[in-house]
Amino acid sequence: MAWSWVIPLCIAIALAAFTAGRRAGARQGRSRALAEAPLQLRRQALLEGVCPICDAPRSQCYNEQTGHTGG
Ligand SMILES: [Zn+2]
Repeated sequence: MAWSWVIPLCIAIALAAFTAGRRAGARQGRSRALAEAPLQLRRQALLEGVCPICDAPRSQCYNEQTGHTGG
């Protein structure tokens, strides 16, 4: 009976660790996505020859990342 608190304590610790890991993973994922998005847009624009933002031919777009002019 004296040990009845051990299992709930273990569950609470596991839940806290899971929550902390999940938050850290989400933060890391957001950071990587922000770093990689411009590269992906540029890659898509170069491979397809079309701006992924406005679907204009890349030769008509001169944005730094995608060739996009906003038009
Ligand atoms: Zn564009």
